[in-house]
Amino acid sequence: MRHLLSAGDLSLAEATSILDVAEEMHTIQSRQIKKLPTLRGRTVINMFFEDSTRTRTSFEMAGKWMSADTINISTKGSSTSKGESLRDTMLTLDAMGTDCFVIRHGSSGAVAQAASWVRAHVVNAGDGTHEHPTQALLDAFAMRRHFGTVDESGTGGDEVFAGKRIAIVGDLLHSRVVRSNVLLQRTLGSSVTLVAPPTLLPTGVEQWGVGVTSDLDEVIEGADVVMMLRVQRERMHGGFFPTEREYTELYGLPPQRLARLKPGAAICHPGPMNRGLEISSEAADAANSLILEQVTAGVSVRMSVLYHLLGGSPE
Ligand code: ASP
Repeated sequence: MRHLLSAGDLSLAEATSILDVAEEMHTIQSRQIKKLPTLRGRTVINMFFEDSTRTRTSFEMAGKWMSADTINISTKGSSTSKGESLRDTMLTLDAMGTDCFVIRHGSSGAVAQAASWVRAHVVNAGDGTHEHPTQALLDAFAMRRHFGTVDESGTGGDEVFAGKRIAIVGDLLHSRVVRSNVLLQRTLGSSVTLVAPPTLLPTGVEQWGVGVTSDLDEVIEGADVVMMLRVQRERMHGGFFPTEREYTELYGLPPQRLARLKPGAAICHPGPMNRGLEISSEAADAANSLILEQVTAGVSVRMSVLYHLLGGSPE
Protein backbone atom coordinates (compact mmCIF):
# COMPACT_ATOMS: atom_id res chain seq x y z
CA MET A 1 0.00 0.00 0.00
CA ARG A 2 1.48 3.34 -1.02
CA HIS A 3 -1.25 5.77 0.11
CA LEU A 4 -4.56 5.57 1.94
CA LEU A 5 -6.77 8.03 0.08
CA SER A 6 -10.11 6.25 -0.17
CA ALA A 7 -11.78 3.45 1.76
CA GLY A 8 -12.78 2.14 -1.68
CA ASP A 9 -9.13 1.42 -2.50
CA LEU A 10 -8.94 -1.28 0.18
CA SER A 11 -9.49 -4.91 -0.76
CA LEU A 12 -11.15 -7.17 1.79
CA ALA A 13 -7.73 -8.67 2.59
CA GLU A 14 -6.15 -5.23 3.13
CA ALA A 15 -9.02 -3.96 5.26
CA THR A 16 -8.99 -7.13 7.36
CA SER A 17 -5.22 -6.93 7.77
CA ILE A 18 -5.50 -3.31 9.00
CA LEU A 19 -8.20 -4.34 11.50
CA ASP A 20 -6.22 -7.37 12.65
CA VAL A 21 -2.97 -5.44 13.23
CA ALA A 22 -5.04 -2.76 15.00
CA GLU A 23 -6.12 -5.49 17.45
CA GLU A 24 -2.47 -6.00 18.32
CA MET A 25 -1.90 -2.26 18.62
CA HIS A 26 -4.96 -2.04 20.86
CA THR A 27 -3.15 -3.97 23.60
CA ILE A 28 -0.53 -1.17 23.79
CA GLN A 29 -3.21 1.29 24.86
CA SER A 30 -3.74 -0.43 28.18
CA ARG A 31 -0.02 -0.61 28.95
CA GLN A 32 1.63 1.84 31.28
CA ILE A 33 4.52 2.41 28.87
CA LYS A 34 3.03 2.98 25.43
CA LYS A 35 5.99 2.70 23.15
CA LEU A 36 7.07 0.43 20.31
CA PRO A 37 10.26 0.91 18.28
CA THR A 38 8.36 0.07 15.05
CA LEU A 39 8.71 3.41 13.24
CA ARG A 40 11.96 4.62 14.79
CA GLY A 41 13.73 7.04 12.44
CA ARG A 42 10.61 7.71 10.32
CA THR A 43 9.07 11.18 10.08
CA VAL A 44 5.32 11.72 9.91
CA ILE A 45 3.94 15.20 9.26
CA ASN A 46 0.33 15.89 10.25
CA MET A 47 -0.98 18.71 8.06
CA PHE A 48 -4.38 19.91 9.22
CA PHE A 49 -5.92 22.68 7.18
CA GLU A 50 -9.25 22.17 8.96
CA ASP A 51 -10.07 21.84 12.66
CA SER A 52 -9.80 18.49 14.36
CA THR A 53 -9.61 17.09 17.88
CA ARG A 54 -9.85 13.31 17.58
CA THR A 55 -8.19 12.68 14.23
CA ARG A 56 -5.20 14.92 14.72
CA THR A 57 -4.47 13.87 18.29
CA SER A 58 -4.87 10.18 17.55
CA PHE A 59 -2.59 10.30 14.50
CA GLU A 60 -0.01 12.11 16.62
CA MET A 61 -0.32 9.54 19.41
CA ALA A 62 -0.19 6.70 16.89
CA GLY A 63 3.05 8.00 15.41
CA LYS A 64 4.59 8.74 18.81
CA TRP A 65 3.67 5.37 20.33
CA MET A 66 5.49 3.72 17.44
CA SER A 67 8.54 5.98 17.93
CA ALA A 68 8.11 7.99 14.71
CA ASP A 69 9.07 11.66 14.78
CA THR A 70 5.74 13.44 14.40
CA ILE A 71 5.39 17.07 13.40
CA ASN A 72 2.13 19.03 13.33
CA ILE A 73 1.46 21.76 10.83
CA SER A 74 -1.71 23.83 10.50
CA THR A 75 -2.64 26.63 8.11
CA LYS A 76 -1.92 29.28 10.71
CA GLY A 77 1.77 29.13 11.51
CA SER A 78 2.74 27.71 8.10
CA SER A 79 3.66 29.59 4.95
CA THR A 80 0.27 28.79 3.38
CA SER A 81 -1.00 31.80 5.36
CA LYS A 82 1.55 33.90 3.41
CA GLY A 83 0.07 32.70 0.14
CA GLU A 84 2.26 29.69 -0.61
CA SER A 85 0.39 27.14 -2.71
CA LEU A 86 -0.41 23.69 -1.36
CA ARG A 87 1.85 22.22 -4.04
CA ASP A 88 4.85 24.33 -3.03
CA THR A 89 4.28 23.55 0.65
CA MET A 90 4.07 19.83 -0.10
CA LEU A 91 7.17 19.84 -2.32
CA THR A 92 9.11 21.78 0.33
CA LEU A 93 8.27 19.38 3.16
CA ASP A 94 8.76 16.36 0.92
CA ALA A 95 12.23 17.63 -0.02
CA MET A 96 13.20 17.63 3.67
CA GLY A 97 12.84 13.86 3.80
CA THR A 98 9.33 13.34 5.18
CA ASP A 99 8.23 9.70 5.13
CA CYS A 100 4.49 10.19 5.49
CA PHE A 101 1.98 13.02 5.31
CA VAL A 102 -1.35 12.82 7.13
CA ILE A 103 -3.50 15.49 5.52
CA ARG A 104 -6.87 17.05 6.31
CA HIS A 105 -8.07 19.63 3.83
CA GLY A 106 -11.32 21.52 3.30
CA SER A 107 -11.46 20.74 -0.41
CA SER A 108 -12.64 17.38 -1.72
CA GLY A 109 -9.89 15.82 -3.82
CA ALA A 110 -7.08 17.99 -2.39
CA VAL A 111 -5.41 15.10 -0.56
CA ALA A 112 -5.28 12.88 -3.66
CA GLN A 113 -3.86 15.82 -5.57
CA ALA A 114 -1.20 16.35 -2.89
CA ALA A 115 -0.32 12.64 -3.04
CA SER A 116 0.43 12.96 -6.73
CA TRP A 117 3.12 15.57 -6.04
CA VAL A 118 5.18 13.86 -3.36
CA ARG A 119 7.48 10.92 -2.88
CA ALA A 120 6.25 10.26 0.68
CA HIS A 121 3.23 8.18 1.66
CA VAL A 122 -0.03 10.08 2.14
CA VAL A 123 -3.01 9.37 4.39
CA ASN A 124 -6.29 11.15 3.78
CA ALA A 125 -7.44 12.42 7.19
CA GLY A 126 -10.59 13.98 5.69
CA ASP A 127 -10.94 15.94 2.47
CA GLY A 128 -13.93 18.27 2.27
CA THR A 129 -17.16 16.31 1.99
CA HIS A 130 -15.43 13.49 0.15
CA GLU A 131 -13.75 10.83 2.30
CA HIS A 132 -12.33 9.99 5.70
CA PRO A 133 -11.05 6.40 5.34
CA THR A 134 -9.46 6.01 8.78
CA GLN A 135 -12.77 7.00 10.37
CA ALA A 136 -14.52 4.18 8.51
CA LEU A 137 -11.77 1.77 9.57
CA LEU A 138 -12.02 2.74 13.23
CA ASP A 139 -15.81 2.48 13.05
CA ALA A 140 -15.44 -1.03 11.61
CA PHE A 141 -12.91 -1.89 14.32
CA ALA A 142 -15.28 -0.78 17.11
CA MET A 143 -18.20 -2.62 15.46
CA ARG A 144 -16.19 -5.79 14.94
CA ARG A 145 -15.26 -5.86 18.61
CA HIS A 146 -18.86 -5.21 19.57
CA PHE A 147 -20.22 -7.96 17.31
CA GLY A 148 -17.50 -10.27 18.56
CA THR A 149 -18.67 -9.77 22.13
CA VAL A 150 -22.35 -9.90 21.35
CA ASP A 151 -22.26 -12.86 18.95
CA GLU A 152 -19.41 -14.70 20.64
CA SER A 153 -18.13 -15.30 17.12
CA GLY A 154 -14.62 -13.94 17.77
CA THR A 155 -13.36 -10.79 16.12
CA GLY A 156 -11.06 -12.03 13.43
CA GLY A 157 -13.23 -13.67 10.75
CA ASP A 158 -14.48 -12.05 7.55
CA GLU A 159 -17.93 -13.34 8.38
CA VAL A 160 -18.34 -10.93 11.31
CA PHE A 161 -20.02 -8.32 9.09
CA ALA A 162 -22.05 -10.67 6.91
CA GLY A 163 -25.76 -10.01 7.30
CA LYS A 164 -25.21 -7.11 9.72
CA ARG A 165 -27.47 -4.14 9.14
CA ILE A 166 -25.99 -0.70 9.56
CA ALA A 167 -28.15 2.41 9.44
CA ILE A 168 -26.28 5.67 8.83
CA VAL A 169 -28.45 8.59 9.83
CA GLY A 170 -28.33 12.36 9.48
CA ASP A 171 -26.53 14.98 7.46
CA LEU A 172 -25.24 12.72 4.70
CA LEU A 173 -24.91 15.53 2.20
CA HIS A 174 -21.96 17.14 3.98
CA SER A 175 -20.45 13.95 5.38
CA ARG A 176 -17.17 12.40 4.29
CA VAL A 177 -17.70 9.77 6.98
CA VAL A 178 -20.72 8.33 5.18
CA ARG A 179 -18.90 7.93 1.86
CA SER A 180 -15.97 6.10 3.43
CA ASN A 181 -18.26 3.94 5.55
CA VAL A 182 -20.41 2.89 2.60
CA LEU A 183 -17.32 1.91 0.60
CA LEU A 184 -15.69 -0.01 3.44
CA GLN A 185 -18.84 -1.69 4.75
CA ARG A 186 -19.69 -2.92 1.27
CA THR A 187 -16.25 -4.51 1.07
CA LEU A 188 -16.68 -6.05 4.52
CA GLY A 189 -20.07 -7.47 3.58
CA SER A 190 -22.61 -5.72 5.78
CA SER A 191 -25.81 -4.21 4.51
CA VAL A 192 -26.06 -0.42 4.78
CA THR A 193 -29.16 1.78 4.79
CA LEU A 194 -28.84 5.53 4.62
CA VAL A 195 -31.42 7.63 6.45
CA ALA A 196 -31.77 11.37 5.92
CA PRO A 197 -34.26 14.06 5.03
CA PRO A 198 -34.41 14.36 1.22
CA THR A 199 -32.61 17.72 1.43
CA LEU A 200 -29.59 16.10 3.11
CA LEU A 201 -29.12 13.20 0.69
CA PRO A 202 -26.10 13.48 -1.64
CA THR A 203 -26.80 13.64 -5.37
CA GLY A 204 -26.49 10.26 -7.06
CA VAL A 205 -26.95 8.33 -3.82
CA GLU A 206 -29.18 5.81 -5.71
CA GLN A 207 -26.02 4.59 -7.44
CA TRP A 208 -24.17 3.83 -4.20
CA GLY A 209 -25.64 0.33 -4.01
CA VAL A 210 -27.17 0.79 -0.54
CA GLY A 211 -30.70 1.24 0.81
CA VAL A 212 -31.96 4.82 1.13
CA THR A 213 -34.93 6.06 3.12
CA SER A 214 -36.17 9.19 4.85
CA ASP A 215 -37.98 7.26 7.55
CA LEU A 216 -35.79 6.34 10.53
CA ASP A 217 -38.66 4.48 12.19
CA GLU A 218 -38.73 2.09 9.26
CA VAL A 219 -35.21 0.81 9.97
CA ILE A 220 -34.66 1.36 13.67
CA GLU A 221 -35.87 -2.05 14.83
CA GLY A 222 -33.85 -4.07 12.32
CA ALA A 223 -30.51 -2.27 12.71
CA ASP A 224 -27.46 -3.86 14.35
CA VAL A 225 -25.71 -0.49 14.38
CA VAL A 226 -27.19 2.97 14.18
CA MET A 227 -24.57 5.51 13.22
CA MET A 228 -25.68 9.06 13.92
CA LEU A 229 -23.89 11.76 11.92
CA ARG A 230 -23.34 15.34 12.93
CA VAL A 231 -25.42 18.13 11.47
CA GLN A 232 -22.54 20.06 9.88
CA ARG A 233 -23.72 23.61 10.42
CA GLU A 234 -20.40 25.07 9.25
CA ARG A 235 -20.95 23.59 5.78
CA MET A 236 -24.62 24.58 5.54
CA HIS A 237 -25.46 27.68 3.58
CA GLY A 238 -29.23 27.76 3.64
CA GLY A 239 -32.09 25.97 5.36
CA PHE A 240 -31.92 22.19 4.98
CA PHE A 241 -34.73 21.44 7.45
CA PRO A 242 -37.53 23.59 8.88
CA THR A 243 -36.51 23.59 12.55
CA GLU A 244 -33.96 21.83 14.74
CA ARG A 245 -36.82 20.55 16.87
CA GLU A 246 -38.41 18.85 13.89
CA TYR A 247 -35.04 17.40 12.81
CA THR A 248 -34.48 15.96 16.30
CA GLU A 249 -37.94 14.46 16.33
CA LEU A 250 -37.58 12.77 12.94
CA TYR A 251 -33.86 11.96 12.80
CA GLY A 252 -32.66 12.00 16.41
CA LEU A 253 -32.49 9.26 19.02
CA PRO A 254 -34.82 10.35 21.84
CA PRO A 255 -35.46 7.75 24.60
CA GLN A 256 -38.68 6.43 22.99
CA ARG A 257 -36.86 5.63 19.72
CA LEU A 258 -33.85 4.31 21.61
CA ALA A 259 -36.13 1.81 23.34
CA ARG A 260 -37.04 0.34 19.94
CA LEU A 261 -33.47 -0.76 19.14
CA LYS A 262 -33.08 -4.52 19.23
CA PRO A 263 -31.07 -5.98 22.12
CA GLY A 264 -27.38 -5.89 21.37
CA ALA A 265 -27.69 -3.14 18.76
CA ALA A 266 -25.01 -0.46 19.04
CA ILE A 267 -25.00 3.31 18.67
CA CYS A 268 -22.10 5.05 16.93
CA HIS A 269 -21.21 8.69 16.26
CA PRO A 270 -17.91 9.86 14.76
CA GLY A 271 -17.89 13.04 16.85
CA PRO A 272 -17.95 15.87 17.48
CA MET A 273 -21.53 15.49 18.71
CA ASN A 274 -24.28 18.06 18.81
CA ARG A 275 -25.97 16.69 21.91
CA GLY A 276 -29.69 17.43 21.83
CA LEU A 277 -29.73 17.79 18.04
CA GLU A 278 -28.76 14.65 16.11
CA ILE A 279 -28.18 12.61 19.27
CA SER A 280 -29.74 12.73 22.72
CA SER A 281 -27.58 12.43 25.83
CA GLU A 282 -29.53 9.26 26.69
CA ALA A 283 -28.29 7.70 23.44
CA ALA A 284 -24.75 9.09 23.58
CA ASP A 285 -24.22 7.82 27.11
CA ALA A 286 -26.18 4.56 26.78
CA ALA A 287 -24.55 1.26 27.72
CA ASN A 288 -24.73 0.19 24.06
CA SER A 289 -23.10 3.41 22.80
CA LEU A 290 -19.72 2.73 21.14
CA ILE A 291 -18.76 6.39 20.92
CA LEU A 292 -15.80 6.25 23.31
CA GLU A 293 -14.77 2.84 21.94
CA GLN A 294 -14.62 4.54 18.53
CA VAL A 295 -12.27 7.16 19.96
CA THR A 296 -10.06 4.49 21.53
CA ALA A 297 -10.08 2.54 18.26
CA GLY A 298 -8.88 5.67 16.45
CA VAL A 299 -5.39 5.34 17.90
CA SER A 300 -5.04 1.58 17.29
CA VAL A 301 -6.36 1.81 13.75
CA ARG A 302 -4.13 4.75 12.87
CA MET A 303 -1.12 2.91 14.31
CA SER A 304 -2.01 0.00 12.07
CA VAL A 305 -2.43 2.25 9.01
CA LEU A 306 0.95 3.92 9.56
CA TYR A 307 2.47 0.48 10.08
CA HIS A 308 0.97 -0.80 6.81
CA LEU A 309 2.19 2.23 4.86
CA LEU A 310 5.61 2.64 6.37
CA GLY A 311 6.26 -1.07 6.78
CA GLY A 312 7.84 -1.06 10.20
CA SER A 313 8.83 -4.33 11.77
CA PRO A 314 6.42 -5.68 14.38
CA GLU A 315 7.87 -6.08 17.84
N1 ASP B 1 -14.98 14.17 12.71
C1 ASP B 1 -15.62 13.75 11.48
C2 ASP B 1 -14.96 14.39 10.28
O1 ASP B 1 -13.92 14.98 10.40
C3 ASP B 1 -17.08 13.96 11.50
C4 ASP B 1 -17.56 15.36 11.70
O2 ASP B 1 -16.80 16.30 11.63
O3 ASP B 1 -18.75 15.50 11.92
O4 ASP B 1 -15.46 14.27 9.19
